[in-house]
Amino acid sequence: TTPPTRAPQPESQAPKTQLSQTPLSVRKKGVKDFEFGKTLGEGSYSTVVSARDRSTGREYAIKILDKKHIIKEKKVKYVNIEKNTLNKMNHPGIVRLYYTFQDHDSLYFVLDHAKNGELLAFIKKLGSFDLNCTQYYTAQILSSIEYMHSQGVIHRDLKPENILLDEKMHVKITDFGTAKIFESNADGEEDARANSFVGTAEYVSPELLKEKAACKSSDFWALGCIIYQLIAGRPPFKGTNEYMTFQKIVNLEYTFPEGFPPVAKDLVQKLLVLNPSERLGSGGNAGIEKLKVHPFFQEIKWDKIWEMPAPRLL
Ligand code: ATP
Repeated sequence: TTPPTRAPQPESQAPKTQLSQTPLSVRKKGVKDFEFGKTLGEGSYSTVVSARDRSTGREYAIKILDKKHIIKEKKVKYVNIEKNTLNKMNHPGIVRLYYTFQDHDSLYFVLDHAKNGELLAFIKKLGSFDLNCTQYYTAQILSSIEYMHSQGVIHRDLKPENILLDEKMHVKITDFGTAKIFESNADGEEDARANSFVGTAEYVSPELLKEKAACKSSDFWALGCIIYQLIAGRPPFKGTNEYMTFQKIVNLEYTFPEGFPPVAKDLVQKLLVLNPSERLGSGGNAGIEKLKVHPFFQEIKWDKIWEMPAPRLL
């Protein structure tokens, strides 16, 4: 049977033009629907607070962005990118955007509350992760990258500050303000090129520094840096200033500390490859499949990684 067709809406009930591209599910709530709690963190033009939906009791993190500040600092474009990319995402490893609304002064993004905060805090607290924990977290990060790439999104700023952990200690990737949406006509790396952006110095890819171009493979470079950091406790490329860090990156100047597990070393060496098209993971789906069967992931059951309990961090 065909579903009943809706009568056309009278003008007064029609959604405002400004919101016409927002899916219905993110249009309904407003500030009054939430009870705001403590501040979870501050960004350069936003504050994130915990909040409870008064009708369902469900907890969220609400990112509050100051409109005047965003306009003054010319960040409107980045706020739109963040909203548009998050709107395309529905994956256990990526912070979900449930509602957006605004009042006179602020924009509100209602997000999953990642109760255990940033992965970086755990690296700092523990010094480093053992191989088993590194495999588990790397697998969840990779699964999330695979999903975002399949949705036509390159993150471009993956790093342990942007990898949050929920109450089950599962990965929730955030900070899509500098992401790039590419056309889904092909998996070709060329199409995904995007210039005029530099992410965080330590995780930035050589192609971005040399050719001012990032592609899907740039996220795999960042993944290599993150795996190295989880095991070594520090990122592979770190100079005394940004310039020195960039020099180390473009010259592939890094060394492994003693005791770095050989299987992880082999994977990092295949990810930290200067030519993005020779990097493990590049080349669309087939490339990702090759990455997923690397011996580093031998113990990983890819179809179970979001059900598996997180290993105890030691
Ligand atoms: P900047 O905008 O300067 O790059 P940022 O991206 O960290 O900084 P926000 O996204 O506003 O800025 O986040 C501010 C802080 O709030 C961060 O330190 C982050 O750890 C925390 N935070 C952000 N989103 C969530 C979330 N969904 N759940 C829990 N904590 C969060």
